[in-house]
Amino acid sequence: MQTYNGSCHCGAIRFSFESETITEGLSCNCSFCERRQALMLPFMLAPEQLEIEVSGDALSCYQFGNKVAKHYFCNKCGIYPFHETMRKPGHYRVNLGCVDEIDSFTLPRTVFNGRELL
Ligand SMILES: [Zn+2]
Repeated sequence: MQTYNGSCHCGAIRFSFESETITEGLSCNCSFCERRQALMLPFMLAPEQLEIEVSGDALSCYQFGNKVAKHYFCNKCGIYPFHETMRKPGHYRVNLGCVDEIDSFTLPRTVFNGRELL
């Protein structure tokens, strides 16, 4: 197991989790993710697996469509650090671009066909 640490750009939102070494990322082609273009964790984290630390009221949430998924973002720097998934509400995927230990440009990516769901 390895510890991964992440944050938004300004540092108001920080998170950490433990997992096996991350060797690939996931992106999604739904109308939101196509615009956001983030590389995400390919598996989900249960709420107890993700430690989140927020300074003040920096954490905002965006929802659309069936309003199941919760797309969090920092209302100071605008960065998306993690979201609660639509497929398993209450579980998280994180933005690998926010993770210190990962170079998100070197990981292979799989594209999830989220367009079919929304
Ligand atoms: Zn921020």
